[in-house]
Amino acid sequence: IPQAGKYSRVMLKISGEALMGDQGYGLHPPTVARIAQEVKSVHDMGVEICMVIGGGNIFRGLQGSAQGMERATADYMGMLATVMNALAMQAALEAEDIHTRVISAIRMDEVAEPYIRRRAVRHLEKKRVCVFAAGTGNPYFTTDTAATLRANEMSCEAIFKGTKVDGVYDKDPKKHADAKRYDNVSYDEVLQKNLGVMDASAIALARDNNLPIIVFSLDEPGGFRGILAGEGTYTRVHG
Ligand code: UDP
Repeated sequence: IPQAGKYSRVMLKISGEALMGDQGYGLHPPTVARIAQEVKSVHDMGVEICMVIGGGNIFRGLQGSAQGMERATADYMGMLATVMNALAMQAALEAEDIHTRVISAIRMDEVAEPYIRRRAVRHLEKKRVCVFAAGTGNPYFTTDTAATLRANEMSCEAIFKGTKVDGVYDKDPKKHADAKRYDNVSYDEVLQKNLGVMDASAIALARDNNLPIIVFSLDEPGGFRGILAGEGTYTRVHG
């Protein structure tokens, strides 16, 4: 496991909601642009970057199935939502002159490249940002699992999970003033205490492949770059 400042290839996972700013729904272009700048600052360090963006700002499968829709159909709608977010991020990154490929787990060749592992690796070697869209391509999964799967396939050194808080706490820090942040926590403790880092299948997949998860605040300007440079506060989930 590399020390801070020694990363060469990383996965950045953000939720769809990270792109909606203060709105209750959808995309907020200034917020997308701000995240693109955070990505650019890390790209400028020479780090190869994979991204997975959720779809919860547009549609979640569980939401659809709660309204009586078949779960699998609702999940496909959720996967399509992630493609919209990926295209928005590609546009914002390219506005920063960063070559970006959207790679979809569901074929839609007019819109995005199909996922071909070795081709994606080649893009990364050429310093193109790869945004992996449409989750894993399968219903009953989440984009956290997709991020973990692709991070393993791309040999990323860690998953950086950007959230609204600067790490993993023993209880919700926005509700409890005495909440304590972990500097380090094991995969098993996250699972046992249900600490809400990522869903359980994603945590298990990371644990089984010894892939560290770094939980940090995406709201902190310069935070992503800072952590890669060895600064700032975050939680490291590892074995
Ligand atoms: N989804 C899916 N399979 C996957 C990834 C995602 O079916 O491999 C669907 C699922 O319905 C999910 C939605 O896409 O609710 C959006 O993804 P997610 O909830 O992970 O987004 P986030 O919460 O990160 O915004």
